[in-house]
Amino acid sequence: MDAISYERAGDVAGAVRAVQQPGAVFIGGGTNLLDLMKGGVARPMRLIDITHISGLDTITTLPNGGIRIGALVRNSDAANHALVREQYPLLSQAFLAGASAQLRNMATVGGNLLQRTRCGYFYDTAFTQCNKRTPGSGCAALDGHNRTHAILGASPQCIAVNPSDMNVALAALDAVVRVNGPAGERMIPFADFHRLPADRPDIDTTLQAGELITAVDLPPPLFSANAYYLKVRDRASYAFALISVAAALQMDGNHVTTARIALGGVAHKPWRASAAEQMLNGQPLTQATLHNAAAAALRDARPQHDNRFKVQLAQRAIVRAVNLAAGHAGGVA
Ligand SMILES: Cc1cc2nc3c(=O)[nH]c(=O)nc-3n(C[C@H](O)[C@H](O)[C@H](O)COP(=O)(O)OP(=O)(O)OC[C@H]3O[C@@H](n4cnc5c(N)ncnc54)[C@H](O)[C@@H]3O)c2cc1C
Repeated sequence: MDAISYERAGDVAGAVRAVQQPGAVFIGGGTNLLDLMKGGVARPMRLIDITHISGLDTITTLPNGGIRIGALVRNSDAANHALVREQYPLLSQAFLAGASAQLRNMATVGGNLLQRTRCGYFYDTAFTQCNKRTPGSGCAALDGHNRTHAILGASPQCIAVNPSDMNVALAALDAVVRVNGPAGERMIPFADFHRLPADRPDIDTTLQAGELITAVDLPPPLFSANAYYLKVRDRASYAFALISVAAALQMDGNHVTTARIALGGVAHKPWRASAAEQMLNGQPLTQATLHNAAAAALRDARPQHDNRFKVQLAQRAIVRAVNLAAGHAGGVA
């Protein structure tokens, strides 16, 4: 067993300082990190507990009409906060689709952003091939069981997917991640926060060493009236997404003014379906347009041998989620 030290950070500067020590990592709710430690996937020497830093556990309004969600806000609190429920229902729905009530009570927004893939080969150290766990070792999923793996943006090094529900909604809402580190504070647009695997699948995000996530900012609410988070999974609850769709629309009658569509369960990062959005923007929402847009979203899909079903499933999920966001009962106009 490895010896581990534990310390509580009192403020942001103290946390950033403490994490510079060799082998130190932040711990939020611990719902992912402790699992990784128990399995021998993560082997930190020092845990810097950030959950006692004051000021990072609130949701506040911003001068521009948006909101700031502190990195230490628990997933349940974020899901049930009046501002999130009323103004960003897409995000509330995504939170509530994730994990279980007990886990949501522990999990923090910062930790959710950084939760690691659920690829079985990454979690099981009996498999020696995993470029995400041990760079250069190979990818056991390529020839193994890859039913739940990526169909977009994968590389020959890694076909794992980002498992978060929250991240899919934040991608659709164009969130901004605020971080504080040795070089000071910076803001990272959500599209730039998570990475595709390329030849460095061990690196999930563009966060620099020692940076603490302090908050997530959301722009003013444009999609409170027409939004839907659809999660397709093997069990009705307590299961990660096979496919998920965050659909948010601005509508003028049956015309789509602005469409935002992000997909989960398809790639190493939440996947914005930009081609589909462009085909819907400024158009009447007909089923023909919507089916064409859904097909465009998956045009570049490269499924694995076990997950060809995901391509059609994702297309159908887009059609259903957009229809539900538009208020078409039962998901079909
Ligand atoms: C059985 C089970 C089922 C689940 N099902 C789902 C699901 O269906 N959908 C879903 O989306 N999620 C699911 N989850 C994952 C869950 O949402 C995450 O475990 C949780 O969000 C992680 O948050 P945390 O605060 O516990 O993170 P931790 O475990 O504390 O930390 C995770 C990582 O983030 C880092 N970190 C934490 N906070 C910060 C910060 N502020 N700044 C910088 N680094 C930080 C840590 O160092 C660590 O590397 C499930 C988890 C379990 C165990």
